[in-house]
Amino acid sequence: MDYSEKIDYLANLIKKSPYTLALTGAGISTESGIPDFRSPGTGLWTKYDPMKVATVSALERDPAAFYKINLDRWTRYNGAEPNAAHYALTRLEREGLLYGVITQNIDGLHRKAGLKQLWEVHGHLRTCHCMDCTQSFPFSCLVDQFNAGINPPRCDKCGGVLRLDVVLFEDALGEDFVQAVQAMTKCRLLIVVGSSLQVYPVAALPERAKQLAVINKEPTPWDDRAEIVINEMAGRVLTDILAALGIM
Ligand code: NAD
Ligand code: ZN
Repeated sequence: MDYSEKIDYLANLIKKSPYTLALTGAGISTESGIPDFRSPGTGLWTKYDPMKVATVSALERDPAAFYKINLDRWTRYNGAEPNAAHYALTRLEREGLLYGVITQNIDGLHRKAGLKQLWEVHGHLRTCHCMDCTQSFPFSCLVDQFNAGINPPRCDKCGGVLRLDVVLFEDALGEDFVQAVQAMTKCRLLIVVGSSLQVYPVAALPERAKQLAVINKEPTPWDDRAEIVINEMAGRVLTDILAALGIM
């Protein structure tokens, strides 16, 4: 199949599916200027190993060093804007062609693009909490302290160290993941967008879909199981899908 045949094929799968979900990863946000982990040359893995620096044990061992290494990257996510791919998924949801999105991203761009049904299975950057008394605070409390030279940032109730509400390596997944697994039981078509499908347990979710479509620049371990694989930029593909569905 050439590119336009693939677009028509996926558009038809979407039209026929009574319950479609999308599963998105860092690749949907690269067109918003946020580097992913594994793209050759530009991915964050090429600079350092997030599995070593973004872990619970790194945070517990030396919270000040943890924030020094990671916080700059996370605060930059908050300044990014959604791109054509995020907006196209929102449009599909509005048209009743997409039930919701399961995202591994913490950048909040689906929400900024107006998506309603979203499961943020790796957390988000809107809040943080005290590691001792569990009190919740806006994320800005953590950033403002860090910028004022208070590192690690601390709880103003008990003095405990603040941590972000993102899932770090070594963390268990939370309520959004439980709900996403539940939603997958009804899923006919799962459209993966911009994920290398290598981070578990999220990478096991495609197993639960009756039909699978993959939109990713590079091959994934699930390509053999997919009805359709499109190795192109997510913004272009999803914009063309809207056009093929006549909802530009
Ligand atoms: P990944 O880096 O492992 O894979 C991203 C994939 O997207 C790659 O295979 C790459 O080829 C593809 N890609 C890159 N740009 C693309 C584009 N414009 N169009 C289509 N495909 C494109 O990312 P992952 O699978 O999400 O796993 C990494 C983990 O890192 C996740 O848990 C995620 O939470 C976290 N992360 C999040 C952000 C973010 O919030 N934006 C950024 C970096 C990492
Ligand atoms: Zn506290």
